[in-house]
Amino acid sequence: MGKTSRDKRDIYYRLAKENKWRARSAFKLMQIDDEFQILKGVTRAVDLCAAPGSWSQVLSKRLYEEDEKAKIVAIDLQPMAPIPGVIQLQGDITSVETANQVIEHFSGEKADIVICDGAPDVTGIHSLDEFMQAELILAAFNITSHVLKNGGNFLAKIFRSRNSSLLYAQMKRYFKQVYLAKPRSSRQSSCEAFVLCLDYSPPEGFVPTMNKTSLEIKDNVTADVIDGFVTCGDLSGWDSEKSYPLDIECSFPRGTLDEDDKKRYEFKDVVQPPTDPAYKEALEKKKTGVFSKMNADMNKEMKAAIKREK
Ligand code: SAM
Repeated sequence: MGKTSRDKRDIYYRLAKENKWRARSAFKLMQIDDEFQILKGVTRAVDLCAAPGSWSQVLSKRLYEEDEKAKIVAIDLQPMAPIPGVIQLQGDITSVETANQVIEHFSGEKADIVICDGAPDVTGIHSLDEFMQAELILAAFNITSHVLKNGGNFLAKIFRSRNSSLLYAQMKRYFKQVYLAKPRSSRQSSCEAFVLCLDYSPPEGFVPTMNKTSLEIKDNVTADVIDGFVTCGDLSGWDSEKSYPLDIECSFPRGTLDEDDKKRYEFKDVVQPPTDPAYKEALEKKKTGVFSKMNADMNKEMKAAIKREK
């Protein structure tokens, strides 16, 4: 595959490089913010699972560039290159020490918003990946319950599955409103979506803990637990499912270039790859077929077990 093929297939990947965003995810946060204005008036923000840092770049641009007093804390297991106005904590979001460090950086105050675009290291085993993602969201909620002020907001990436309504029901216990947002820059064919929880109001007597393995739900929760499913982003804008030719003028939002600014396609490298990603080893293993073999072995074992049961 040629080095320009992803630029053709994935307009947001190309746009990210053209606009100096470290990852295409930046557009997802911007489109959600444009729809819900979640960053309006925010002075203390936490970005969980932040590396390589495109969401932190958006926070820096929309908060710190507007008001240098804004405080942004970004947490990741991985180190990441500096971003103006962003304090970096290299740490694990599942640890209470990380929560305490966040509050220290806010001089004892709590955050107005916590955002999380986290993803565990992908194994390629679908059910395991889905389970790990659900665990990560639970961890993200646990740390959020330590650092978020009452009335604050929480945004987290999820992969929709048949179990998602349980998560919405759980979130509804702690937040007044729960939306599911699907930005236009997130492929429609992907089960990725973002749960947006507004107005943190934990039940009386709730004590935040990092050890919770499941959250409570409201007794009277019904199937319609979310307040809405909202697609975000301009419908006449770039379509993440479409391939575009390389010789089109590329700008964001679509059509915002002046005639003078128009330029021809020029290949650009990614702005800032993760410095030392934990998934490097997993990717190597995937390449060498270790996971396919594990998958095949597991399937074999399961089939044998089913046969024995019969
Ligand atoms: N939001 C980022 C951006 O816009 O550039 C992309 C995040 S990337 C998809 C997922 C990140 O989650 C990885 O950098 C990974 O190290 C981080 N991560 C996964 N588990 C974590 C944990 N327990 N604590 C902290 N970070 C974690």
